[in-house]
Amino acid sequence: MGIPSDLLPYRKPHIKNKRLTDPHVVIVGAGASIAACKYDKNGVEVPVLKNIHKVLGLETAIKDYGFSVSDIEDFEMFYSSIATKPKYKDLAAYLENAVRDYFKKLELPDEPTYYDYLILSLTEKDAIISFNWDPFLAQAYRRNLKVGNLPMMIFPHGNVGMGICEDCHTIGYADTLCSECYNEFGDMPLLFPVGEKDYGKHSIIKFQWKQAQEYLSHAAGVTVFGYSAPVTDREAFDLMKNAYQESGMKEIALFEIINLESVREEQVTRWEELFNKKMMIYTDTLKNTQLWKFPRVSLEALFDAILQCHPREENKSFQSFNSLDDLQAFVKTIDEYELYFETEI
Ligand SMILES: [Zn+2]
Repeated sequence: MGIPSDLLPYRKPHIKNKRLTDPHVVIVGAGASIAACKYDKNGVEVPVLKNIHKVLGLETAIKDYGFSVSDIEDFEMFYSSIATKPKYKDLAAYLENAVRDYFKKLELPDEPTYYDYLILSLTEKDAIISFNWDPFLAQAYRRNLKVGNLPMMIFPHGNVGMGICEDCHTIGYADTLCSECYNEFGDMPLLFPVGEKDYGKHSIIKFQWKQAQEYLSHAAGVTVFGYSAPVTDREAFDLMKNAYQESGMKEIALFEIINLESVREEQVTRWEELFNKKMMIYTDTLKNTQLWKFPRVSLEALFDAILQCHPREENKSFQSFNSLDDLQAFVKTIDEYELYFETEI
């Protein structure tokens, strides 16, 4: 039964024992951290990189090198302009450390955040690729570990919540010990804004990119959450685009964009090389996505509906929970992972 796969304009989803094996990949950027946690547990505002020199009081150090602070409209552009010049080496290092220290101190509030929902909406076949440095995603992951069956986290720009052991080539939570040699983890490199990012320079970053590409190359669904794919980072966009094209599922793969309504047109144009129009959903909140409506089975619900004409009931959608315990208890009741099918799809 069905159309022979060589006549289809797309590849069929990979299925093993009635379970989908293709990942749902979520790409997160600064907008996701702001949606998850605008103020941290201690009331500290999470700064955007653009004006971080003002928030962190780095202006004096910048002035000491003869720059006029009022001329700096964008920290990223300023940093990028000095980073590769030997005479500003010390200033660049100083700014980098100050930013890292600030991010390190941020703490996720106790109540459930969008990052908790996001992590718990996916399973171990899936991945979250985060371009953020803040530790919120890693902190949310850690407190949900006990639920089990969680996605992979990937940080192609580095992250202050994660640490690395250079000797063992391992990665783990920043304030823990390496599981191989029991030494403390060192800082994971942060890729600061420079015109040409060299993703191959650090082996750990190179590995993060390899993993990101691997997941995207067989993704059956992509959600872009608060990541605007800045034109200054064309390399990242191209790496992701090329990997995703390999998946061969554009015609039936879900593509969701969560971003501000004010940037809808610009963002749809930005990403349209990657999606099929009829599969694209644009929204300004996680609550309108397949992840919220069908947590843990986002793509299973999609393929049951479009390939099997057997839509699932939305009776296990997320609600807004007041406590993390309630959210976790709810997630544990979701167990219908099998696809509905009588014939192979
Ligand atoms: Zn080690």
